Amino acid sequence: MNIGILGGGLSGIATAYFLQKNDRINSIEILERESEPGGLCRSFNLNGLSYDIGPHIIFSKDNEILDLMINILGENKNKLKRSNKIYYKKSFIKYPFENELSALPEDDKKYCLNTFLHNPYENIDADNLLKFFLKTFGEGITNTYLKPYNEKIWKFDLSFMDTQMVDRIPKPPREDIINSAAGIPTEGYLHQLYFYYPRKGGIKSLIKAFTNQFDDRVSVIPNSHVIDLRRIHNKWKIKTDQGCLREYDLIISTIPVQSLAEIYQTDMPKEIIESVNDLKYNSIIIAIINVRKDNLGDNFAVMVPDKKVIFHRISKLDFLGESYRKEDGSTTLMAEITYSKGSPIDKMSSKEVERKIIEGLEDVQFIDHREQINFIETRRFEYAYVLCDLNHRSNMNLIRNYFAGQGIRLCGRFGEFEYLNMDAVIRHAKDLSEEIGKNLPC
Ligand SMILES: Cc1cc2nc3c(=O)[nH]c(=O)nc-3n(C[C@H](O)[C@H](O)[C@H](O)COP(=O)(O)OP(=O)(O)OC[C@H]3O[C@@H](n4cnc5c(N)ncnc54)[C@H](O)[C@@H]3O)c2cc1C
Repeated sequence: MNIGILGGGLSGIATAYFLQKNDRINSIEILERESEPGGLCRSFNLNGLSYDIGPHIIFSKDNEILDLMINILGENKNKLKRSNKIYYKKSFIKYPFENELSALPEDDKKYCLNTFLHNPYENIDADNLLKFFLKTFGEGITNTYLKPYNEKIWKFDLSFMDTQMVDRIPKPPREDIINSAAGIPTEGYLHQLYFYYPRKGGIKSLIKAFTNQFDDRVSVIPNSHVIDLRRIHNKWKIKTDQGCLREYDLIISTIPVQSLAEIYQTDMPKEIIESVNDLKYNSIIIAIINVRKDNLGDNFAVMVPDKKVIFHRISKLDFLGESYRKEDGSTTLMAEITYSKGSPIDKMSSKEVERKIIEGLEDVQFIDHREQINFIETRRFEYAYVLCDLNHRSNMNLIRNYFAGQGIRLCGRFGEFEYLNMDAVIRHAKDLSEEIGKNLPC
């Protein structure tokens, strides 16, 4: 059995890692468009600093997968305690927002507390994201933070978004919110309170740790942009943009389903084409900004719900450990900006984006003035966030069943087109590999 995996991001790499445990598999080839594997888990280097596509922290409720991620890194990891804030009306409020209501101006605090304790939305059917926030947190917390911040990330009307990303968030206990307003410290989202991060090299080290475990049946073939996939006499034939032809018994696709639909040479039913075209996603711009001095203290990530500011989150990379700090005493920030295709941000040049970021940093006073910036660099990534609108679930059920019927297995964040973090991607890769293993001919 020879297996071809389309895409060498974490899901492609992890799928190969698990599949190689099966002796009946002769070869596994991972075809990756870029010059190196990793996808969204790549890290880049600028003036000696490693940085990710938005800092990729390692955490999970899935203990088996968390153990795998931290064990595979060996000594190359730091365990860190979250120190995240929300910047609201010139104050830093501890994250999650509802856990430090006492830090809000008096009127905002009362609004959040009273509308949580006496919530007319408590019993509504939360069939979209906005209703979920209103029902779970009340009007004050929703309007003050959750709504503006989420609109800023998603660039989409929350009442047209599905609740699948949040439906496991429990309603905070009344006592926690009362304590939070009274200034008694509480912690939320405990599964991310402590997290891991590679001691050096950025999240790319996780990819390297997996590929180091590959045996000689597994190969990653970089610079292999797959442009044509077809099935001929029970074999899968693929062609890359370099004209390279390859043949496999089984195909696993981790590339965006939109790309898969484009390269798959077949008469695809109209309803599948329409469903694929209806899928929505956001792209991201990340900017790395090295400054002589910042005003973020020892915080790591700071969320900025204010829509006048272009970025939604600033992270201070120095927090991640010694190898992410420069010796000259300067600090390094990362700004994240999401956008959708054809939107005004999409049309901005890199220079314009940089100018807006710098204006934003000055506006919220994270830096005193622009002369403090040593260097800034931006990068864009098309597929960053799956947007779960109200059609997403039905669209993806149709698409998944269609490709399963064709014998193409989907895996990964954009392969399955689901909101999956690294831990979920690895879990799905493991489950898929085991299922494939069980069904292999003896
Ligand atoms: C800003 C941001 C921050 C994040 N932070 C975290 C975090 O803190 N913690 C966490 O757990 N997760 C985080 N994630 C999620 C994490 O990045 C993803 O879950 C994971 O990287 C997805 O891996 P993947 O392999 O499924 O997809 P991808 O990484 O997108 O991989 C797909 C691969 O397919 C390749 N490809 C595409 N088309 C073709 C083609 N035609 N031929 C060949 N190759 C092709 C691409 O080049 C890419 O390498 C974050 C994501 C983003 C965007």
